[in-house]
Amino acid sequence: MSTADLDRIYGRPATSDGKLDRNWYRRNIVPVELPFTMRAAWQKSIRVRTILFHRKKAADLVAALRIIWRYARLLAFEDAPVEPSTPEEYEALTIQRIQADGLDLLAGAYCFRQGRHGRGLSEHARGIAIDIDPTGNPPVGNPPVGNPPVDNPPVNNAPGSEATRMPDYAVRAFRKRGFAWGGEDEANENAMHFQAVE
Ligand SMILES: [Zn+2]
Repeated sequence: MSTADLDRIYGRPATSDGKLDRNWYRRNIVPVELPFTMRAAWQKSIRVRTILFHRKKAADLVAALRIIWRYARLLAFEDAPVEPSTPEEYEALTIQRIQADGLDLLAGAYCFRQGRHGRGLSEHARGIAIDIDPTGNPPVGNPPVGNPPVDNPPVNNAPGSEATRMPDYAVRAFRKRGFAWGGEDEANENAMHFQAVE
């Protein structure tokens, strides 16, 4: 999507001098309760129940995470050595599966900043992007610009390498709700990153 399209759909988060437009923020950024508890990727002892996102994509974000939860639940059931006998056991196996796949490791959602490669504002500044499991899915290629920690883990793989461990079911879930996966962006491969495409 072009910047003009993004401005039309989600509004312009910056004023003409490049600062955060506080009116835009008040009108568009909302707290979103997550369907499952996540952990801060950079400090795993921090539990995250609520994140900030654009109001127009908030429902899709929650829906995508719910789909991920259901996929994980199915996989956990499939892989369980013994069939879980209580809902609590089932729940615990699902959480284990989510954690084993790194899908509860949140590295950022709304954040007012420039994009990694200096092409203007980041989709995170519009509140329409989320980063998950940054060390399991490090960006490929040029070292990122901007301040850590969001989108700025060590770059430890060469262009074209297959360093991502983002599960297919997570990519499918986000796609179903109108998000593109950064792992498929050839110019700027960033497999931790999902952003709205509609
Ligand atoms: Zn990102």
